[in-house]
Amino acid sequence: MRVLFVTPECAPLTKTGGLGDVAAALPAALRAQGNDVRVLLPRYREIDPAGAEERAQLRLLGMDVRVLEKGDCLLVDAPALYDRDGNPYQDAAGVDWPDNALRFGLLSRVAALLAGSASPLAWRPEVLHCNDWPTALAPVYLHFEPARSGTVMTVHNLAFQGIFDAALLERLELPRATFAIEGVEFYGRLSFLKGGLVYADAISTVSPTYAREILTEELGCGLDGVLRERRGVLRGILNGVDGEIWNPMTDPHIAERYSWTSLERKAANKLALQSRLNLAPEPQAPLLGMVGRFTHQKGVDLLAGAVDELVQLGAQVCVLGHGEHEHEAALSAAAARHPGRVACAIGFNEELAHLIEAGADMFLMPSRFEPCGLNQMYSQRYGTPPVARATGGLIDTIMDGETGFLFAPAESAALVAAVTRALAIYGDARRWRELQRRGMTRDFSWAGPARQYAGLYAAHARAPVP
Ligand code: ADP
Repeated sequence: MRVLFVTPECAPLTKTGGLGDVAAALPAALRAQGNDVRVLLPRYREIDPAGAEERAQLRLLGMDVRVLEKGDCLLVDAPALYDRDGNPYQDAAGVDWPDNALRFGLLSRVAALLAGSASPLAWRPEVLHCNDWPTALAPVYLHFEPARSGTVMTVHNLAFQGIFDAALLERLELPRATFAIEGVEFYGRLSFLKGGLVYADAISTVSPTYAREILTEELGCGLDGVLRERRGVLRGILNGVDGEIWNPMTDPHIAERYSWTSLERKAANKLALQSRLNLAPEPQAPLLGMVGRFTHQKGVDLLAGAVDELVQLGAQVCVLGHGEHEHEAALSAAAARHPGRVACAIGFNEELAHLIEAGADMFLMPSRFEPCGLNQMYSQRYGTPPVARATGGLIDTIMDGETGFLFAPAESAALVAAVTRALAIYGDARRWRELQRRGMTRDFSWAGPARQYAGLYAAHARAPVP
């Protein structure tokens, strides 16, 4: 199967969250199963063009664009849009780029071109796989092509929809007819994601539970009606773990490598983490870790509200992340209140994220909603049982009381209660080891999910355009 996988981010070239990891691991797993998968993404500043070969020169949306090929990647080269400091969506100060509609409209437009009959490339995909709103206009453009590949739209997070002023319709060269209820129109504005959901041949999201949750008003983010209409082509496929990158036996970022048969070596990582973050070097104190975007979604405020009680329980707490100012401030204040017991590292730090997975005793994910979540799978692999809210992919990947701990109410008290439950088992070394081992020996590999995606592609593939 020839698949063009279009994404706004791909690790290690550029990553802000889970999609970056997925965009690296899923295409690799599909290739290992014999598929021919190319990844299309913008040529951001951090992507070195050395070694890339030019495959096409185009004029699209009134701009000069080149398509470069580098390894398995196809890069959309439009320096005026992508050659900047900052991340794919925001400038260095965390403010959305004002021209995001154009930046990701162009990415979608190029994807549609390469999946349609006018493609300048000899390589023609049978399926175009779109990921999140920055790629979601591609099925809309393709809908009007005389011949095209099949389209799959994956929702990694329904909360991000790409909603812009309707006046941009013309600038993005979208046919007027698309600005309709059965199209890109969303309360008088232009919604990228809604367009993808309406026009794609198939829709998927990243866990079976989230696939059900987004059909409800509570978690449907205003698109539950559209999704209910299309529920016949909607399915949930769980993400996997890249076992080369997230493996405590080979991880180059941690202090000492270990496996489920040498769990005693995990202690060296705890000590290294405590020393790195100026926490008291106490081997017995349960160390609770958290890594993630500091947003309302991730329930960072639930943790901030629980910290004092967690410290009372004898725990240490360390968090790594960045995001909304109020959350950064609340967690920094908690660290200042509890020197040596609570640490807060602000920023994005891949290496420290690995050390927290290895060095903490438990991993916290009090998310209000979680489409899939990756950290709870990493933490199970690292013998660091997750304590998480019972929502979305967390329900699908954590076995409560067996490999981790789930709690239901989105309240600090419920988080504290779940940690208390975990601490009771932590106090019994034999039972805790059993819990760790059960998590560490689970299969979270991409092989199974990749087969499910291949099945989805097969059901929607179209004969390649000549
Ligand atoms: P989301 O995609 O919603 O941000 P996921 O749990 O699916 O959440 O994936 C988050 C990924 O990003 C994980 O690989 C996590 O380790 C990583 N990550 C998030 N924040 C940071 C950070 N501040 N530093 C390092 N890695 C981070």
